[in-house]
Amino acid sequence: MIRIQVLGAAGGVTGSCYLVETSRARVLVDFGQFQGPDARGGSNAVLPPALDRINAVVLTHAHLDHSGRLPVLCKNGYRGEIFATAATSDLTDAVLADAAAIQEQDTDAENRRRMRAGLEPLVPLFTRADAECIRARMKDCGYYRQIPVAEGVSVLYREAGHILGATSVEMTVSDGGETKKIVFSGDIGPRGVPILRDPDPPESCDLAFLESTYGDREHPPAQAAIDALIRIVRETIFNKQRVLIPAFAIGRTQMLLYYLGEAVRHGKLPASTPVFLDSPAAMRATMVYRKHEELFDGEAAKLAKTGTFEQSLKNFRIVETATESRSLNESWDPCVIIAGSGMCEGGRIVHHLRHNIWRRGTALVLVGYMGEGTLGRKLGDGAKQVYIFNDPIAVRADVFKLDGFSAHAGRAELIAWPEKLARSRPRIVLTHGDNGPRASLAAGLKERYGIDAELPMRGDVLTLA
Ligand SMILES: [Zn+2]
Ligand SMILES: [Zn+2]
Repeated sequence: MIRIQVLGAAGGVTGSCYLVETSRARVLVDFGQFQGPDARGGSNAVLPPALDRINAVVLTHAHLDHSGRLPVLCKNGYRGEIFATAATSDLTDAVLADAAAIQEQDTDAENRRRMRAGLEPLVPLFTRADAECIRARMKDCGYYRQIPVAEGVSVLYREAGHILGATSVEMTVSDGGETKKIVFSGDIGPRGVPILRDPDPPESCDLAFLESTYGDREHPPAQAAIDALIRIVRETIFNKQRVLIPAFAIGRTQMLLYYLGEAVRHGKLPASTPVFLDSPAAMRATMVYRKHEELFDGEAAKLAKTGTFEQSLKNFRIVETATESRSLNESWDPCVIIAGSGMCEGGRIVHHLRHNIWRRGTALVLVGYMGEGTLGRKLGDGAKQVYIFNDPIAVRADVFKLDGFSAHAGRAELIAWPEKLARSRPRIVLTHGDNGPRASLAAGLKERYGIDAELPMRGDVLTLA
């Protein structure tokens, strides 16, 4: 009998983790961080059951909600391998180094408060040193190959089209003379975006876990957002002002750079437009994208043969040091600054906001989801004044919210994803979505294929006999 326990991202979108068990093997699929409300009650410190008997970890992609607790495994004695595509492995390095640095800083700040209040200090979930230990455990894999990961368990990585290196996992599990196929969709990207190949769903299985993040809605068309972005950049630079774009390090930033370069190639933006990338995490991720050009799709692959896809921007610069970053604010020269972090909660963007958003004519472009209570959310909601480093700052900049750069498939594409799979009449289990979206996706799947999807909660166990 095969037993699969859902250990996260069930009725929520964070903390992805599954434990697959047979009489001979125990394999973990993803070990991601819980974030926001899902993180309450110390969820991130909870270890998988009987960690010492886990034989292998299989990682779908590098995002923090899938990879973000791997250092906790190693810190607690896990010595097995972590299987991932080579690009995922490289991006995971960048993601975990960044996450560890943030945790160390946050814990330091919290501990100063606790010390003054006479309380015991806290320890971070993991440190930079813990994060660095992961590299030695990573086993880089290719796409579309059968990879044995534990006794009686092998996986095949398929394209998920979500971020570079992201996969859907087809797992073949043999136990007691029976062989079953289990599919983990991972996070599924929208079709037709530049740089990434389209998602490539498996063709048959016994049981499929399908993500349901946007199970209840469609995204606005990407083209409208791209056109708006290019118009804002062109007009703001023409008016000798600045464009600030808070950067989501992986995927979104590389996509924005691609669109800016494309606009130059199509004569919609002057090649001389100065663009600064000022985010250590986004810089590392951009380097990983360049290193793995073999995974690029279509036009990006063609461009990669002659250089990088940002090369159309003649004045593109990566800002490496904090000093260089500060020096950007010593003048008012018009430029585009893409800086971390995405929701404006720290990182170099905060300094650029402080120096620029009180000036009329500055354009602030928000291109992603802004969590409740974040500075990005306040600016997006039209605050006339915000506090940055305890200073009141007037908001006179024009704030633009552009939807349409999502890395997730919308409802129709999620419903279409199991089209071929559905012929083998598998069980479909919906995870990685809030309850509203996954109920809506379940209704869509029922209507299209007549399959009643299962909606487990965290801790539930499914069995395959
Ligand atoms: Zn993801
Ligand atoms: Zn995810």
